[in-house]
Amino acid sequence: MKMKINNKEYDLLEEPVKHILLPTKKELHGWYAGKRECTAERLLINPYNGCGIGCFYCYARALPGYFEIFHQQKIIFVAKNFDQTVTEQLDSLNVATCGYLSPVTDPFQPLNEKYHLSEKIIRVFVERNIPIEFITKAKVPDEVIRLIKRQKHSFGQVSILTTNEKLRKILAPNGASVDELFRNLERLAKENIHPVCRIDPIFPYLTDEKKNLSGIVERAKSSGAKHIVVSILDLPVKIADDILDKIKEYFGAGMKWDYRRLYTERIGYLNAKIDYRKKIFTFLRELCDKKGLTFALCMEYQLGQPSAISHQPSAVKGLNREFMSSTNCEGIDIPLYIRKNGKFQPATDCKGNCLNCFQAKCGIEELAMGKEGAKKDWKLKDYRHWSKEVKNPIFQLLVV
Ligand code: SF4
Ligand code: SF4
Repeated sequence: MKMKINNKEYDLLEEPVKHILLPTKKELHGWYAGKRECTAERLLINPYNGCGIGCFYCYARALPGYFEIFHQQKIIFVAKNFDQTVTEQLDSLNVATCGYLSPVTDPFQPLNEKYHLSEKIIRVFVERNIPIEFITKAKVPDEVIRLIKRQKHSFGQVSILTTNEKLRKILAPNGASVDELFRNLERLAKENIHPVCRIDPIFPYLTDEKKNLSGIVERAKSSGAKHIVVSILDLPVKIADDILDKIKEYFGAGMKWDYRRLYTERIGYLNAKIDYRKKIFTFLRELCDKKGLTFALCMEYQLGQPSAISHQPSAVKGLNREFMSSTNCEGIDIPLYIRKNGKFQPATDCKGNCLNCFQAKCGIEELAMGKEGAKKDWKLKDYRHWSKEVKNPIFQLLVV
């Protein structure tokens, strides 16, 4: 069957799920500066626009462009031969940061079993000795573990929302079972790969019981995790009603109303009340301290105090300032990499927390964003610009 998108016709493929192969010139890029809290710089890579894990609250459903078609028609867009595009882009650089697979969809979702783009992209990074990380709710393929154990700073994050398998089937229906998710952590730890457990997101009144949260933390620790990342479900305004309807369908009308009463703050998304969120973060931070695990939040904010003159809330404040116990959000410190004598290697022995850095030991002054107003959306063209600086023999003598 053919499908017309932006006046072009594409084949709509039906197996294993509805998808379209889309030629793409997408470029690697960094975080969006906006409310950025992510301490470390990353090269974001997104081979799949859409995701077959099937989470009803998926934030990707609220994104524009192809994601709208994914939300309405469940069609996933696959970036055709994206590993080759990534290869060309990395080979044009002399400066690279850790790859991030992937910011909005699951890299090991069922469709990846057909195209293996995630494994191919990981291979491209590892063969160049550039670090790469992934986040998943699926089983980590063996090949991924074999690959990333070869690269010193590469690591994996596994999202585990509940220890209750019945509930897991509702929250991430096409993801891995609870046991398989903890096994992911074990398999990473066994190979000395930094394993991160994400309780991301926590669902108010569904997975927020202390018993569930401490059950995840304890089992994650005994599976080898060293670091916990947490967030509480946000409701993207565009799809908030859809999410609430699903909550009613699965958990009853009363639960929907409980959510309506709790989600009264608006910080870009609809957020649960700050007191509720802080209570959970305090509990988890203290628990992680006791267990010897480091802890961080992901994209959790608080509205500033209203100004006495305008009564408008001042800029939002990231809650990691209050709750994070690690230097970087993922509990691992990864420096910038530069190409030296033809091979990528760490530029310096820094902690890689560029967002809070005041002294660019790596030599790329713009990347040290500790100063007010220094945050930027870094693009491939910025990496290309830095790559020219790095080629200068004086630079090479100075930084390593
Ligand atoms: S795994 Fe992540 S990207 Fe995939 S459907 Fe679930 S929330 Fe969305
Ligand atoms: S020296 Fe500073 S700016 Fe450079 S990579 Fe390290 S943390 Fe980032």
